[in-house]
Parts: sequence; structure tokens; C-alpha cells
Amino acid sequence: MTRRDRLPVLASVLLATLPVTVRPVQAKVRVVASLPNLGSIASEIGGDRIDLSAIAVGTQDAHFVDPKPSYMLKLRNADLLLINGLDLEIGWVPPITQGARNPKILPGAPGYIDCSAGIRVVEVPSSLTRAEGDVHPYGNPHYLTDPLNAEIVAGTITDALKTADPGSAQAYEDARKAFVRRLREALFGKDLVDLAGGAKLSREAAAGTLDLFLDGTVVGGAPLRAHLGGWLGRLQPLRGKPIITYHKDYSYFAGRFGIRVVEYVEPKPGIQPSAKHLEDLVERLKQGDVHVIVTRPFVEHRSTDSLAERTGVKVITVPIEVGGAPEATDYFKLFDHVTEQLLKAFGVTAQTGPASAAVARP
Ligand SMILES: [Zn+2]
Repeated sequence: MTRRDRLPVLASVLLATLPVTVRPVQAKVRVVASLPNLGSIASEIGGDRIDLSAIAVGTQDAHFVDPKPSYMLKLRNADLLLINGLDLEIGWVPPITQGARNPKILPGAPGYIDCSAGIRVVEVPSSLTRAEGDVHPYGNPHYLTDPLNAEIVAGTITDALKTADPGSAQAYEDARKAFVRRLREALFGKDLVDLAGGAKLSREAAAGTLDLFLDGTVVGGAPLRAHLGGWLGRLQPLRGKPIITYHKDYSYFAGRFGIRVVEYVEPKPGIQPSAKHLEDLVERLKQGDVHVIVTRPFVEHRSTDSLAERTGVKVITVPIEVGGAPEATDYFKLFDHVTEQLLKAFGVTAQTGPASAAVARP
């Protein structure tokens, strides 16, 4: 008897002996995420109701993953494929979905979930072009660097799971609500969420009116801003500070946290810098206002090392995906880690960091 023959027998024995409240393993929704951030959010919503795997790891460049045959195997029995979309994975997701021969997860099928749905995309070019190798033809695809966009992605994933597994719809909805609450507490601080309401804060932040709201609403004699904590509170000392990033992948992050990205090491997304471009960057750095360059684990470090050597600028290697650093074990820890790295690079000490430490007035 081969292993393959034995499995159904074993499964039926197991099913017969399981209490009725235990979900049989076979009923799990098989979810494959193209990238670890999507996988982390899916895990928050699906929990043990889904059988989850991700294709790329956080130390890989999401634009340039090798479409390996082993990835096709991962997709062969998938019920849902979660992709970032906006052509971020154009070089590798189409070949592996075609190679997987699984009609459930082909573009247009119900199991093909483009998680960019509903995202307000920035830097959308006026005409679709890949001129000079630009890898952002539909606008900036790195929307999950803004934690507020994870709320939208969580909604998309929840809807997909409800459709694939209607019997557990309520459980997915409950998990989505718990995730969104935790996300808002991590972004704004629990104190502020309790005072102002997470949905209200989220709406104000999405509309770009959070500052007006925080400064214009007085509670107990102090503006609400005194209660701002979380990642936004901790990163307040960095607001308005200029940085340079290697790739154009911090636009959403910069918008949310008020940091200014003034230049890029890449002259265009996906294009390595020329000697001329590096000279221009040296000139830019000589202005003296930019003290930090943010680069990624998967790009070349020659250019940034040389910029650091020539100008004294500090270069930090920061992950953009879960698993891109040992500390970034899930979507929350990714932002915890990024926050720490940025504060450290700017020399912000713990005393001036967390706004959540501010004492609320009676
Ligand atoms: Zn990019």
C-alpha cells in the first residue's frame, strides 16, 4: 500500500473518532499569499481555519522574485491566492499561476484576490508606461507601508474567506474586527483609541485631518494630541524630517507619519544608480539637512556605503516585509522594528519617543 492510498483511510478513521466540534483538517481553506505581509494579515483573519503559506520571503525583493517550479506546487491545490497587485509581482505571479494549472486561482476566478482593491493609490502616472524600466506603471504598489491600508486589505481578505467558507463567516468577521482594533491601538495608542474611538481616528487619518482633530479637540483641559501614542506618537519627533530612500517604497509610510522623502538612490524605481546620479546625491547631501538614508536588505549596498563614506550620512537597512529582519515576525512587529530603527537613526531617545508616556491631566 502506498502512502497515497493510506491517507484517505487514515483521514476517515480520524474523522470518525473526532468530536463533532473539531473542524476536520480537510475543510481548511487553503490560502497562498504572494508576499509575507499579506500572509501575516491573512493569518490574523483566518487563524487556524486556514491552511496558509506565503511564496516570497521578506528578504526578497517583491519586484524580482524567481518564479520557481516549487511555487507552482504551492498553488496547485490553493483555494485562494492573495496578491499585492498594481503589477508589483508582474514578473513572477503570472508564470506560477499559469504553471500551477489550478483554475480556482487564475485571474478573474473567485480565488484570485487582488488586495490592492479599494486602496487609494499614490503616484499614478498620467500615462501607463514602463519607460526606462519603471516598475511602478500603475502607481506606487507599496501601500502596506501605511498601516491604515492594512484595514482595507483585512476587509478584502475577510470577504474572500467568507465566500470560500461561508460556514465560518462570523468567525472571520470577528477576527477582522479584533485585528482592526489592535491595529488602531498600535497606530494611535490605546489611550487615544479609548478616548476618541478607533473608527473616528481612522477616518480622520484617512482624510488627512487627524492633526486638526487632535489639536482642535480638548478633553480634560488638554488637546487630544496629549494622548497620541502608538507608532504615530512615537514617530512624532521625526515629523517633517527629510530622508532619502533607496527605492520609491516609502511614499505611503512617509505620508502617514509625516516624514519627507526628498530623494531616491535609484533614479527610477527598479533602476540602479549611475555614477552621475550618485554625484548628484552627494551634492544633495552636502546641503546638510538629510541625515538618514533608508535602504532595504535585498538591494545592492555599494552605492549607499559610498554615500555614507563620502558624506557621513547614516544608512539604515530596514525591512519592508514581515521576515525582512529577525525582529519583524508579523505585521505589528514589522512596524515596531521600523519605528525603533528610525528613532535610533535620528538619535531620538526613549524619553522623547513614546507620546503614550505623556501623563494625562485629570
Ligand atoms: Zn517598488
